[in-house]
Amino acid sequence: MTKEELLYQYGQMAVKAGVNIQKGQTLIINAPISARQLVRNCALAAYEAGAREVVVHYSDEQLSRIKMEKTDIEVLCDVKDWIQNSYLEYIKGEGSRAILSITGSDPQLYKGIDREKINRASAAKMKAMAEYRDYTMASRIQWCIVAVPTENWAKKVFPDLERDRAVEKLWQTIFDVSRVEGDAVKNWKEYARQRRVRRDKVNAMKLKELHFTSSNGTDLYIGLADDRLWGGVSEYSEAGVEFIPNMPTEELFTAPHKDRVNGVVHSTKPYVYNGDLIEDFTLVFKDGVVVDYDAKKGKELLKQLLETDEGAKRIGEVALVPASSPINQKNILFYNTLFDENASCHIALGQGYPGTVVGGEKMSVRKLLEKGVNDSIVHEDIMIGARDTDIVGLCEDGSTVQLFKNGQWAF
Ligand code: ZN
Ligand code: ZN
Repeated sequence: MTKEELLYQYGQMAVKAGVNIQKGQTLIINAPISARQLVRNCALAAYEAGAREVVVHYSDEQLSRIKMEKTDIEVLCDVKDWIQNSYLEYIKGEGSRAILSITGSDPQLYKGIDREKINRASAAKMKAMAEYRDYTMASRIQWCIVAVPTENWAKKVFPDLERDRAVEKLWQTIFDVSRVEGDAVKNWKEYARQRRVRRDKVNAMKLKELHFTSSNGTDLYIGLADDRLWGGVSEYSEAGVEFIPNMPTEELFTAPHKDRVNGVVHSTKPYVYNGDLIEDFTLVFKDGVVVDYDAKKGKELLKQLLETDEGAKRIGEVALVPASSPINQKNILFYNTLFDENASCHIALGQGYPGTVVGGEKMSVRKLLEKGVNDSIVHEDIMIGARDTDIVGLCEDGSTVQLFKNGQWAF
């Protein structure tokens, strides 16, 4: 297929299989200006499927860098209401809607700028956008994230290639791991069907604890939240419409209990935190809280991440990804969570997903905390799956089940 055909399929995939736009819905698209052609493809796909209106929010990362560098911190922290309202007016208005976020950014966009300034500005923005964020975090409406390469991102992933070649190679890699070749919508409908079977099996096991061990020294017990649910591939909005929130996706994930995590875990891939790397790090948990940590590189950053708020020292997600994942097979560090988290089993420091406990979407933060679902303004996925990771699950009836053997599903 030509690049044009692949890009057409990619747009069809994001809109018709990803957000799964319905007749009469409004589609909100967030995208970098470099994704113009894909945005047009997505808008056409949405109208084809009967969308009422497509509303686009463009961003320009170079401009974001200029602003971060040149503007005073007080101004950066003063996030005006209209920014969130420019979304909420559509979301809360008549009819129903869906959000497609097209992401692609330089992992080191803010390199050289004062770290504390970046953290304070991003925390202020997160806080100011909390109500909007809740619509996707709680899957109240359909949403989906897909990626587009940007020049600086591609150069970071493929540093030995010329800029144009690096961008082309990253496009090809994204198309490969996103199952775009052929009829992308059909590919995804079939893949989602297969993945639902395994998800249902894992839910039927009624697991209450997972025990991770790897030869790198990982020995971690993760107690799961009360009434936890395993999710993966697709979710359902409040209106009952099925959608695929992340493309690509290889994970099955659920809510750990915020107070029941014990042991030691070693990272198996670098973590990209606001553009900088935290590498070869270790976390020690006691009763859910990180009580000790170390990192060969980026220890100070890890400290800042853990100190963001109370919930940043606890985990809100545990996800299982086999070593055979096509993203892992590429053996590339993408410097982008959407891809890197789908290469390996991971845990996330910070906020849990309400949808990972029964009825969670309708619960208050307090109620969710009672179930064990963590709360924080951050949600940072860190990779812990190794080629020889074993995972044994403890079921509610006291029996055990081997979930992973040598990095692969054991059933
Ligand atoms: Zn995940
Ligand atoms: Zn996550």
